[in-house]
This record gives sequence, C-alpha cells and structure tokens, in this order.
Amino acid sequence: MNKQIVILPGDGIGKEIMDAAVRVLQAIAENFNHQFTFSEHLIGGAAIDGEQSPLPETTIHACKKADAVLLGAVGGEKWDALPGEKRPEKGLLGIRKELGLFANLRPIKAFTPLLHASPLKEEIVEGSNILIIRELTGGLYFGEPKKRIPEENAVVDTLYYTQTEIERIVDKAFQTARTRKKRVTSVDKANVLESSRVWREVVEEKSKQYPDIAVDHLLVDAAAMKLITNPKQFDVIVTENMFGDILSDEASVLTGSLGMLPSASVRTDGVGLYEPVHGSAPDIAGKGIANPLGMILSASSMLRQSFGMEQEADEIEYAVQMTLEQGYHTPDLSIKNGTVVGTKEMTDIILGNLATNDASQCICNSYA
Ligand code: ATP
Ligand code: MG
Repeated sequence: MNKQIVILPGDGIGKEIMDAAVRVLQAIAENFNHQFTFSEHLIGGAAIDGEQSPLPETTIHACKKADAVLLGAVGGEKWDALPGEKRPEKGLLGIRKELGLFANLRPIKAFTPLLHASPLKEEIVEGSNILIIRELTGGLYFGEPKKRIPEENAVVDTLYYTQTEIERIVDKAFQTARTRKKRVTSVDKANVLESSRVWREVVEEKSKQYPDIAVDHLLVDAAAMKLITNPKQFDVIVTENMFGDILSDEASVLTGSLGMLPSASVRTDGVGLYEPVHGSAPDIAGKGIANPLGMILSASSMLRQSFGMEQEADEIEYAVQMTLEQGYHTPDLSIKNGTVVGTKEMTDIILGNLATNDASQCICNSYA
C-alpha cells in the first residue's frame, strides 16, 4: 500500500521519539512491501519560533492531504508566557478541529513486565485491556452558551449534543468492538442528565444494527470505581467528552507509566492523528533518554485504525512486548533485573525484535 504520512515532531522530546517511530515504520514498510512517504511540518512552539503561529497554514494544508498524521508533543516553558490564543497547545486543538476528528481512542493495557509499577495490586491490573472512546468535539466542553452572567452573579456551561454527533461516536464504538472482544460499555449519567438519557436511547437503537456486540450501560460514578476495582470487566468504553477526559486519565494509572500510552483521534473515513498521551517532557529533552514506546505504539495504532494493517500493527506491539520481557527499558520505567537503555538503543532493540519476531504469537492485539 502507498500511504502519505505527515509527521509533526513538535517540541521537547517530540523529535527524538518521532525519529524512533519513523524508523519502526520504515522497517515495517520494508517487511511488508508498503510505500510510506513521510513529510515533516511544524506545529506548537517550533512553529511559533519558525512561522509566528502554533499552526501554520502549510501544516494544515499538508495534514488535510495526508492519509494520517503522527504528532510528537507540543509545549514548553519557553512559550509559557504567551497569551492563551498564541500558545503551542493551540496548534494541537486547532489541527484536531481542522481535520474534524471527533473520536479520541485511548487503549489501556498493562505490559506484564511493568505490572509492578501500577499503584494497584498486580492481580487486579493483570490482563486488563480496555479501549476508551471519548467524544471529542461536543458535549460540556464546547456547548454554548458558556459564560458568566454578572447580573445574576452566576455562570453557565452547556452540555449540547446533536443526535448525529452521538450516533457517529456510538457507531465508532460498535465497529471497533467488532475487532476486539465484542463488548461495549456506554458510560453516562442518565439518572440526572437529559443528554445522557438520549445518549442511552441512541446506544440501544444502534445496538440493533450490531447484534453480535454485547452492550451495557454504566453511570459515570460507578464506572470510575469499577475501572480501578475490576478493570478486567471492560472491553470498549464509549462516553461523552468530559467523562472520557476524566476516565481516560484515571485508567492510565493501570499501566503504571505515562511514557507508554498511545492515543488516536479519528474520524469516520479513517483519517486520524496519532500521538502519545504524555507531554513534551522539557526536563529530559535532548538527553537521548525519552521513552519512545508511547510514540511507537501510536504509530502502530495508526497502522490499525487508519490503514487497516492489523498484522503490521501486531508485529510492532509484539516487538515492544518482547523488548520489555527481555528487560530493556528507558530510565522512566522500572523492570526487575532490567537493563536501562537510551531512546536510540531501545529503538535498535525493537527493530532487532521486529526482524525476528512472529506476530502469530502476539497476544497483545490491544492497540486497536
Ligand atoms: P502537560 O504536557 O500535559 O501539560 P507535563 O508537562 O507535566 O504536562 P509531560 O511533559 O508529559 O507532562 O511530563 C511529565 C513528566 O513525565 C516529566 O517528568 C517527564 O520527564 C516525564 N515524561 C513524559 N513523557 C516521557 C517519556 N516519553 N519518556 C520519559 N519520561 C517522560
Ligand atoms: Mg508538557
């Protein structure tokens, strides 16, 4: 297959981890006879320095033409004093909006060698494999009016959804569940919110089109508790923007490490933007010690979600798992009797494992 990939390294450790992900993708392209064309553009602080804007027109244009976009991280102290509208983070929000990406996918899976790093008991976390699908463009964060009302000494935010917005995110959840354990948990607050009652109706109605998928509903407060008391019960979770924001951060503690987590923002036609959950980590930028796994797993998520390359994605995830099982890790992780390596060496070892591994043994088909 021929694919155009825009890479946006951004700031801080962005460049180091992007180099790692591109090397892995190049190896996959070679092994599977694909043509991946990479074109690099500016975003965030780097774009402010180079083009006086966190999201230059040339970057928007390139992303709109691409089959998928890989993003490193944006932000850093250097730009902290700028007014809100001009900050690096605006670049990220802006590009998601320009591309119309309405679904945020956060796979949460603990790799066995890292289980001990979770604050939860190993037996609770072990075997958890969750995909949180968060609605990204509507709900409480974007509904209007959103304002202060001085004459009433009051303030208002609005939780607004169109029926179509709920339908498309719920559809995404059902479709994705088909590639996994065929289970959808819809999370809402239907005992008090009207929007949640409609959300539930949409889920029930949609579920008729997906008789092979098991569905249940959970109130968000109960979901918050069950995520850390019995995470194994979940497969796909689909929920409103703010609920998803909170629950995905909560669920990330299951894995014990921020540096490991990938994230995808996608739309219906498969175009998506893939980035690690962590930030630009300015404290370690340029030192060659950043953990590249969140970025590499984001790249494999791109292969799965945007290109339908399941086997290719499996191979990357298996190579990551093998590398951790061999005890190799960057300084942010801890593995018993492990060996600490830098970003480049970690990537070299993953590439070595990619060359020898057998994805049919891959039990980690989770970064869907
Ligand atoms: P945000 O960017 O979300 O505003 P932040 O700047 O505090 O928050 P990060 O940039 O992710 O968040 O950094 C938080 C801590 O985690 C830092 O100490 C950073 O060095 C570490 N960290 C984040 N990502 C990685 C990584 N890939 N490898 C190693 N350490 C990391
Ligand atoms: Mg940061």
